[in-house]
Amino acid sequence: MPFIDLQRQYQKYKDEIHAQMETVLNASAYIMGPKMKELEETLSGYVGVKHALAVSSGTDALLISLMALGIKAGDEVITSAFSFFASCEVISFLNAKPVFVDIDPVTYNINPDQIESKITKNTKAIMPVSLYGQCADFEKINSIGRKYDLPVIEDACQSFGATCAKGRSCGLSSLGCTSFFPSKPLGCYGDGGMIFTNDSSLAEKMYMIRAHGQKERYRHDCIGVNGRLDALQAAVLLGKWPHFEEEVRLRNQLGQELKEELKKIMGVIVPETASGNSHVYAQFSIQVESRDAFAASLQKMGVPTAVHYPVPLPFQPVYESMGFKKGDFPVSEDVAGRIISLPFHPFLTQEERHFIVSCVQQALSLV
Ligand SMILES: *Cc1c(COP(=O)(O)O)cnc(C)c1O
Repeated sequence: MPFIDLQRQYQKYKDEIHAQMETVLNASAYIMGPKMKELEETLSGYVGVKHALAVSSGTDALLISLMALGIKAGDEVITSAFSFFASCEVISFLNAKPVFVDIDPVTYNINPDQIESKITKNTKAIMPVSLYGQCADFEKINSIGRKYDLPVIEDACQSFGATCAKGRSCGLSSLGCTSFFPSKPLGCYGDGGMIFTNDSSLAEKMYMIRAHGQKERYRHDCIGVNGRLDALQAAVLLGKWPHFEEEVRLRNQLGQELKEELKKIMGVIVPETASGNSHVYAQFSIQVESRDAFAASLQKMGVPTAVHYPVPLPFQPVYESMGFKKGDFPVSEDVAGRIISLPFHPFLTQEERHFIVSCVQQALSLV
């Protein structure tokens, strides 16, 4: 059993994906071009924002957003202590300081009640992560943003397609950034990402930053990057797009069903969805004791697992000089020690689901 079954999805949508790719190949327009534009228009419509910029990865989406906001050395950006490394890497890359906030124990997203106490005169932005496919609490985070006049960037790399009371992920705050890495809810066949915003002046800056700071060819108004999405990846995404809403529906339904079954097993903490939220389960992650032995038993039974993520961001070796100590981020530390992701994708059959559940039960009785 694969952890995420990309092959099954490809076999299902093959003809549409090939047809889209063929258009690009026949036109020999590989960098940006009409397919990228079509993708941007399609997805900005879906999210319900004015501007969508296709970029080379989720990491570059975050980086370009911070660059457009003018984040520089000495600035502070508030983010979650528990995420994939890219969430804080982009802040450090600009020589700004990531200011970590612990997470909520139920949603695993940044604890909004701990944000205000971390704001200083150097704070320039708040960058919450919508982890595992569930939106962070943007009601509260945006109101803090408004109070201190700080932009809010959603790291929505795992949550494209998710919704909350405020609307769709990526359209909830000043800027929304997602990733099209193959295993994400909407994945291409390589690297890719997108930035969403209603702010036209930010969008204009980001168009420039995406292409070497150029406004027109060979006229460079600012320092940018090579952050473009290539047209073949846009074609892959357009080929898959007609099926996305159905996949989101299946993710929701299958996740719910898997959760109800796992809930009955002693010693399993299942992922909970905050009221008003819908979950796309980019990762279906549970908490168990003795994780390593549990994972080894599952592996023997043919059920692959992964740990997202074993080390909270403040405790990464590269941040050693920040001097954090055990107990500074109690919830993140606790979760990082017990979280484990099970195989999950929209094409999981009922038999596979039952197999996973019975293996989890067996593995727990062995540890
Ligand atoms: C995947 C991911 C990223 C980075 O996206 P890439 O497309 O791989 O660069 C950033 N943040 C989070 C939370 C992610 O899961």
